[in-house]
Amino acid sequence: ATPTALMVGTGRGAQLGILIKGPEVLETTRKVDTVVLDKTGTVTTGKMTLLAVHTADSTDETEVLKLAGALENASEHPIAQAVATGAVQKVGALPALEDFANIPGLGVQGVVEGHAVLVGREKLLAEWEIRLPDELKRAKDTAEASGRTAIAVAWDGEARAVLEVADAVKETSAEAITKLRALGLTPILLTGDNEAVAKAVAAEVGIDEVIAEVMPEDKVDVVKRLQAEGRSVAMVGDGVNDAAALAQADLGLAMGTGTDAAIEASDLTLVRGDLRAAADAIRLARRTLGTIR
Ligand code: ADP
Ligand code: MG
Repeated sequence: ATPTALMVGTGRGAQLGILIKGPEVLETTRKVDTVVLDKTGTVTTGKMTLLAVHTADSTDETEVLKLAGALENASEHPIAQAVATGAVQKVGALPALEDFANIPGLGVQGVVEGHAVLVGREKLLAEWEIRLPDELKRAKDTAEASGRTAIAVAWDGEARAVLEVADAVKETSAEAITKLRALGLTPILLTGDNEAVAKAVAAEVGIDEVIAEVMPEDKVDVVKRLQAEGRSVAMVGDGVNDAAALAQADLGLAMGTGTDAAIEASDLTLVRGDLRAAADAIRLARRTLGTIR
């Protein structure tokens, strides 16, 4: 590969909104045959909205929104932002937070108005031996079956509510998947979210293979496992929790709209956060190499 031709490739990349870390990256694009896509913030906008609040009997919706909102206000997770924003819209000012911890891939916990509050997956509540009552379990199942994310709220050892949060698929994602397939890549959707939501999103954009309910630290193992099967893996992600997997992948692509950790771990950055640029980048890189061999 001659340096000049490679620089032309990277210059054209910048025009297309693709930043390439170094010319050696181009070579890798030749052999990738699988593309692993993070769901939230990559295939979907990551901008979630709070759609509904289902409370357990004897639980006051305003209190749910105040306690959950105060806790989520301290987290940068897209789900947290949706809950906090929705809560402020409905109940106004949120109470002060007395203690806070982020539990990656599960949710948040903390103390608000003297209550020990948990907000997150059913699994987070299970770690504290808190079970969802049947009415909330039903609300959760219904929400998830329609592709929404159900978030559980508990305090003082009891499940109190299920919040319905939804995230829109980016308008460009389905076309991007078609383009990636046209380049011979098999798409796989990877997410910490539950299987039902993941399948609904996958169906919407034309992905057949889904790996769901993967803890943040396990995303890298999914990439390793695919590599062990002999696949050459491109990974596209945006979050802090994608960084290790992006670094492990044969080709790491970060959403420019994502976190610094993801961008630093990647070989390529899609500046505008448009997934179609992933296909453009691979096509451009292959073509650049084609002209110099
Ligand atoms: P993804 O892989 O889709 O980017 P994450 O690994 O960040 O998702 O989170 C996985 C799941 O954990 C979320 O779908 C949600 O159910 C739960 N979760 C994580 N953080 C929070 C939070 N701050 N509030 C509520 N739920 C959360
Ligand atoms: Mg993400």
